[in-house]
Amino acid sequence: MRTISVIVLATTIVSNAAFAQGRGGRGNAAAPAGPPVLLVPDRVWNAVDDAPHDGWAVLVRGDRIEAVGPRAQVTVPADATTIALPGTTLLPGLVEGHSHLLLHPYNETPWNDQVLHESQALRVARAVNHARATLMAGFTTVRDLGTEGAGYADVGLKEAIDQGIIPGPRMQVVTRAIVGIGEYAPKGFAAEYSDDIPQGAQEASGLDDVSRVVREQIKHGADWIKFYADYRWGPNGEAEPGFTQEEMNVLVSVAKTSGRSVAAHATTAEGMRRAALAGVSTIEHGDGGTPEVFKLMAEKGICYVPTVSVGGRNKKTVLGYALAAGVTICNGADSGPLAHGDNAREVEGLVANGLTPLQALRAATVNDARMLHWEDRIGAVKPGLFADLVAVNGDPTKDINALSSVAFVMKGGTVYKKP
Ligand SMILES: [Zn+2]
Repeated sequence: MRTISVIVLATTIVSNAAFAQGRGGRGNAAAPAGPPVLLVPDRVWNAVDDAPHDGWAVLVRGDRIEAVGPRAQVTVPADATTIALPGTTLLPGLVEGHSHLLLHPYNETPWNDQVLHESQALRVARAVNHARATLMAGFTTVRDLGTEGAGYADVGLKEAIDQGIIPGPRMQVVTRAIVGIGEYAPKGFAAEYSDDIPQGAQEASGLDDVSRVVREQIKHGADWIKFYADYRWGPNGEAEPGFTQEEMNVLVSVAKTSGRSVAAHATTAEGMRRAALAGVSTIEHGDGGTPEVFKLMAEKGICYVPTVSVGGRNKKTVLGYALAAGVTICNGADSGPLAHGDNAREVEGLVANGLTPLQALRAATVNDARMLHWEDRIGAVKPGLFADLVAVNGDPTKDINALSSVAFVMKGGTVYKKP
């Protein structure tokens, strides 16, 4: 079990005053005032080149990276302060591509009980801690893939972080996610009651209804649309596609009309195939994927988020198919079921399942940044991008487990953790 966040709090550097100011603005808290900061680690992995660069330094001004390069070649302003990070590798802030900040591990409370017995206020209070734990683990951006019964609470959580009220990662959110009527859960109630049991996602049925539900979620603040291309609703509880091809086509088409991308939960080859044909941007889990389905995903430029931290035993096999087909692998742990703050385990798990440390690090930085259409803001150590930077003890390009030894976290130029 994860250590509770009192310890994390003790290492928090940023002052409460910085949060209490209630910085305004949608999407970006105001840049921190104060002198430029020179970060001096042992080496920098910039997510652009393969090898880390020994002896490089990074200059941060306001909320942006101003310069990166050999320390002697970085022009350091006279008023700059220096933060020495000995023994560390500095890399871009990591991205958690599949979180559920409104969930906590099922061995603490089963999913059904979280959805049916925990109030939204209780769940939001937990989520505030989850957001902080994620940031302190070096994950400065998340794509949150469903509140699982907590309505639109992810939208408010994101706003609270953006306005500087609570510490947490940058967020893109999907709100409630979409399932076919009868597809999802909680289920198994007496037929007389089952129409009235709250569900872990918003139900829809038919072309008009999927279209309406997509629009409704957008109206309430969804940055992405997520739907369950399959789930365990077959006659014997097996996973079967949750929507017809036509329903998926309409759902994705409405989302894309609004300029939003779509993520599909899918564990079966048929669910993945239909989602791919409908034009989704990412497929989550993919445990039952076949070489043919991954070939289709590669052709259509669809990212694969394998979530090796959860689900079946054949992740290594399907990741092998995906790599062979040339599919872009993205990082997402399904954190929530996996404890928030343990997010680096997924990146380590990608290596345990056949990726090289560099491929896994790319998944959690540049690939995820591109997936989010934020490659002009995050995912690399380059001048002009947000100063979202993390330093870990050791060299994760050689030993991926170094990612769990976080020494320093900066987001948008604000230091949240310092050695
Ligand atoms: Zn999930």
